[in-house]
Formats: sequence, C-alpha cells, structure tokens
Amino acid sequence: MAQQHKSVRVWQKLDVNEVRKHLLIIDDLYGSCANCKQLGLNYLKDAQCTGCGTEFRYLATTLKAPGEVARILGRIEKEGLKLAVLDRDDFERAEAKDALNDLFK
Ligand SMILES: [Zn+2]
Repeated sequence: MAQQHKSVRVWQKLDVNEVRKHLLIIDDLYGSCANCKQLGLNYLKDAQCTGCGTEFRYLATTLKAPGEVARILGRIEKEGLKLAVLDRDDFERAEAKDALNDLFK
C-alpha cells in the first residue's frame, strides 16, 4: 500500500518539565525559548537557542486553523527538522496542572 503522509493530532503523555527545556513557542516564523525566554528565534534556522543553547525538539503554536498548522509542518518536513508540534493551549493546561500538583506535595 502506498504511503500516505498526513497530519494527525496525537495525544501523548509527555514530561512537562522535559518539554519546557526543549520548547520553542512560536507565533509565526519567530518565537521565544520556553527555557530562557530568549526572543526572536526562527524555528527553521535556530536548532538551538541562541540564549541558553538548548536543543529544540518541540514547537508550540497557538495557531488552530488546520491550514496554518499544515504550513508549519510542511516547512519542518521540507527542512528535514526533527520537531514535534504541540498545541500551546494543551501544553499550558498540562503545565498549570503540574503547578497545581506541586502545591499538594
Ligand atoms: Zn533558551
């Protein structure tokens, strides 16, 4: 059967702290490092943060339109980057829950 590569959102359990260390939060082409808040990073060019040197493995975006997310995924594929795209709201919700759990430790 011929391969059909399409974009599908997957729910996956991730270590929030680990993700934050390797996360680039983007608006469009540019974004900021979740680890050190460095601004103006380009996810196609900056494989590592110019501020703290962390290697990016995740991108978080607030874009919801399937077409816009598809464009990001297309660019990542074209450049041969190893970046997973997360929904920023999902991530922030997971982070908030994490902070809440900390209160009860
Ligand atoms: Zn950084």
